[in-house]
Amino acid sequence: MRCSSCDQAEMQEGTTTVAFEHKGASYAFNKVPAMLCPSCGASSVDEKINDQLMLRAEMLRESAAKVYIREY
Ligand SMILES: [Zn+2]
Repeated sequence: MRCSSCDQAEMQEGTTTVAFEHKGASYAFNKVPAMLCPSCGASSVDEKINDQLMLRAEMLRESAAKVYIREY
């Protein structure tokens, strides 16, 4: 799969960190499977995996902490 950001290289399988804000809290998930561009560093996470992370964020929100860091 060609990188859609720079069009200079093929995307390669790897892992990345996904961080986002959701309902006033910050979340970071390490080692999320993703396609990475060796040329420009762009990363692309599968939509299904993204959905899973959002679901897990919803569950983590029950706890009182403001920052959540989990490994995928
Ligand atoms: Zn690229």
